[in-house]
Amino acid sequence: MSDTILVVGAGPTGLSAAHGAAFAGKQVVLVEKESKLGGAPILSGYARLVPSGEWAKDAIGRMVKRVEEDARVTIYKGAKVAQLDGEFGNFTATLSNGQTVDAGAVILSTGFTHFDSINKPEWGFGTFEDVVTTTQLEQMVAAGRIACPSDGRVPERVCILLCVGSRDRQIGREWCSKVCCTVSANLAMEIKELSPKTDVFIYYMDIRTYGLYEDRYYWRSQEEFGTKYVKARIAEVTMGPDKRLLVKGEDTLVKRPIVIPMDLVVHAIGMDPNHDNREIARVFGVGLEKHGFLDRGEHYTATFGSARRGIYVGGAALGPEDIDTCISHGLAMAMRAVGEFNVSAQQAA
Ligand SMILES: Cc1cc2nc3c(=O)[nH]c(=O)nc-3n(C[C@H](O)[C@H](O)[C@H](O)COP(=O)(O)OP(=O)(O)OC[C@H]3O[C@@H](n4cnc5c(N)ncnc54)[C@H](O)[C@@H]3O)c2cc1C
Ligand code: SF4
Repeated sequence: MSDTILVVGAGPTGLSAAHGAAFAGKQVVLVEKESKLGGAPILSGYARLVPSGEWAKDAIGRMVKRVEEDARVTIYKGAKVAQLDGEFGNFTATLSNGQTVDAGAVILSTGFTHFDSINKPEWGFGTFEDVVTTTQLEQMVAAGRIACPSDGRVPERVCILLCVGSRDRQIGREWCSKVCCTVSANLAMEIKELSPKTDVFIYYMDIRTYGLYEDRYYWRSQEEFGTKYVKARIAEVTMGPDKRLLVKGEDTLVKRPIVIPMDLVVHAIGMDPNHDNREIARVFGVGLEKHGFLDRGEHYTATFGSARRGIYVGGAALGPEDIDTCISHGLAMAMRAVGEFNVSAQQAA
């Protein structure tokens, strides 16, 4: 029986799982396909995180450092698992770099892919330079300046369109991405901090700033930062003769058509299933749920298990999730893997 736990994917979930398993005394091999650890918050350059308010590079950076400095954790970057043979207690993984890893259990923390706004062409992304996504806005905030990409001017009016690539059955995305209302309210406040004269609008179907976020983000962004929320159904984003963007649709509260000029339009993009999920399902022998996220097995007594014994799945690989929850999933998977492992070792002795 191998005393090693293989963790695949080094975002918040995988970093938490790797630390948890190593802390419990196991050897860990962490495999990440990119050249950097940290997952979406680091790879996409997020600014301040909800709800801690800490810069992503500091908060997630600490998680990366903790794992990198742990002698029990061996890290392979720029690598994937190409093949997995064996069974619980005795898996052998062959990596894309030719390395082989013997492991008793596997934790899949392979996360999500950001929705590509090109799939919503009527809302102007890819056509107009000043239509951007929340990840681009996060990068502007992290760099300390809000600007229109077309000419670098500071925008007088910014609007954030919610639910881009989420809750949209026409393009096959039925799910709510869970974090984007709160992240957008947070970004609206950050815009105002950096550029007090900019007016910020949020166009929404419903607001889902769940739990304590309602007060800290939804109400605060209006009452302290003057963000204007408009309940609307957006039809299209075009450009007016003065080169300003025109956001067209219907104000669904007063049931009137609206055409509103904006300098910068931001798509609050959702969380898609990881594009690698078919390959991951094939290599690891786990299932996919109907939208293409990884499937979990029976949850109540075999929490974070999958269709295959000894392989655990958690974090945003299972569906849209926030970082705090992902960190808990990571620790829970480590606990499951270490626990099952120890029981099997005792039975074998
Ligand atoms: C614009 C935006 C802003 C957000 N801001 C916040 C916020 O402020 N607070 C908050 O709580 N949440 C926020 N979120 C959600 C947050 O991004 C996720 O909760 C978190 O990144 C999920 O962590 P994860 O480790 O499960 O997945 P990921 O962050 O996606 O990490 C998965 C890792 O696995 C790697 N990987 C993928 N496939 C493979 C493979 N086949 N082999 C090896 N490695 C692989 C990836 O490269 C990546 O490093 C935001 C989301 C968006 C879209
Ligand atoms: S969290 Fe808000 S913006 Fe994101 S999909 Fe759900 S309702 Fe839409």
